[in-house]
Amino acid sequence: MDIARAMALGGQIVYADNCDFYSSDKLKLLCNVCREPVYLRKGDIRKPYFAHHHATSSRQLEECELRASIYSKNTQINSFIQDRGQRLEIFQQHFISMIYVGQEKIVNDVKFNNWIDSIKQNYNLAINNITNDCIEYFLKYHNKIKQRYVIPLKNVKDKQILFQQQIAFEAINYLCVKSSYKLLQYIITYSMYQLYKHGKNNLLEQDITKKI
Ligand SMILES: [Zn+2]
Repeated sequence: MDIARAMALGGQIVYADNCDFYSSDKLKLLCNVCREPVYLRKGDIRKPYFAHHHATSSRQLEECELRASIYSKNTQINSFIQDRGQRLEIFQQHFISMIYVGQEKIVNDVKFNNWIDSIKQNYNLAINNITNDCIEYFLKYHNKIKQRYVIPLKNVKDKQILFQQQIAFEAINYLCVKSSYKLLQYIITYSMYQLYKHGKNNLLEQDITKKI
């Protein structure tokens, strides 16, 4: 395909002819159909085009017609898969490093990263269950969550804020695609960590036990 959706530009469409190899990570390029990450490929003969990083199943392939058309033309799929896996990882690292809470990047929070490592090592059923429930909730209600944060147009004085809002919405949509599952898990675990760290877990327990 010769177009992609630039998450970092709030979902603006970009053309392969105008992109270079750095565009994927810099502009956070996504497929305009399935919203999975894509990257630029250039052949000797073919015009530059965007290809998907990763496909986990043939069903997922069918779900994206753009991808299907690329795959049917491509005879060397297997040799690219490993390469694509690595590219996807780099893309995801770039995405995560974009996320700040206050002045601090999540990836630079050493205490949190130690905490998440210890959770992985000592499997904790309660944390695991909460994480899974939160992921399920997020995937189901992400549109409602977005609506809660929409700033009414009449209240917007600075266009930059609208642009940032659009980028945030693109990022939320991106978190809902299949290959983002681990990213979503990481971010939700971070939210839990923050609640825990600030002793707000008591508050959380109260909300859970209250009938709404
Ligand atoms: Zn796609």
